[in-house]
Amino acid sequence: MPKARKQFGQHWLKSEKALNRIVSSAELTESDRVLEIGAGTGILTRQLISQAQAVVAVEIDRDLCPILVQKFGKYENFLLLQGDFLTIELDDLLAPFPAFQNPRKVVANIPYNITGPILEKLLGTISDPNPKPLDSIVLLLQKEVALRICANSNSSHYGALSIRVQYLADAEFISDVAAKAFSPPPKVDSAIIRLKPRAIEHPANDPRKLETLIKLGFSSRRKMLRNNLKSAIELEPLNALLESLNINPQARAEDLSVKEWIALSNAFNPDTPAHNIH
Ligand code: SAH
Repeated sequence: MPKARKQFGQHWLKSEKALNRIVSSAELTESDRVLEIGAGTGILTRQLISQAQAVVAVEIDRDLCPILVQKFGKYENFLLLQGDFLTIELDDLLAPFPAFQNPRKVVANIPYNITGPILEKLLGTISDPNPKPLDSIVLLLQKEVALRICANSNSSHYGALSIRVQYLADAEFISDVAAKAFSPPPKVDSAIIRLKPRAIEHPANDPRKLETLIKLGFSSRRKMLRNNLKSAIELEPLNALLESLNINPQARAEDLSVKEWIALSNAFNPDTPAHNIH
């Protein structure tokens, strides 16, 4: 087993149970094209190759690529791209390989230090969603982040990340994975999640405004929402606005569901003087 490199967030999965759970959660069929981010030594890659029509693996570590080629080069449904997933232009790189174009599912044990940027590349953002939403994304990631992604309002893990992801996808916590399932074990616990990207039923009228409001609203977690939004709107019109939406004026940002955030954004007009609100 090659020595794991810290700089690339390398932790080799060794638990068969966790491996099986990841693969079964992806619900692969023989017609699926799959993208794997960070193939490592190929423990997950091997399963994907046996179950999917085509597997595109991206691996940043040049030293691992010959190992992957040696193991899987003989399979016609396997394509390895050496590079940084965050910066590669997947569509361009896959242009010469019709059988591997447009993978619709992602399955990956990702490097934890770049979880946010990976999610953003896969899902896009509230104001700039991925124009070609994926069918499903199964990830093994840091448990704390998994809980935040999947949390509902009023739970201690719910925050800006929950809203940003759930605006773009259904998010499901699949299972815990203990640190000892890896070699070397990471310092944190892990978990498997499944995201199913979809268009939200009632999108925000102005997604950029919603993004700004979320950012402002969660800027200080201990404060009431109205205090975090002070710089954008006067207290009185905001109180009236919250009441008109049936939101307690003393609510904190984490008390508002995704729907309530969208409603707030749609009704929010920072230029509205107090007497015009009703
Ligand atoms: N899938 C393997 C390895 C997981 S560790 C297993 O389950 O055992 C994470 C992997 O992502 C490592 O192989 C690491 O080299 C790779 N990696 C880290 N940063 C990357 C990036 N920006 N782009 C592509 N791969 C990356």
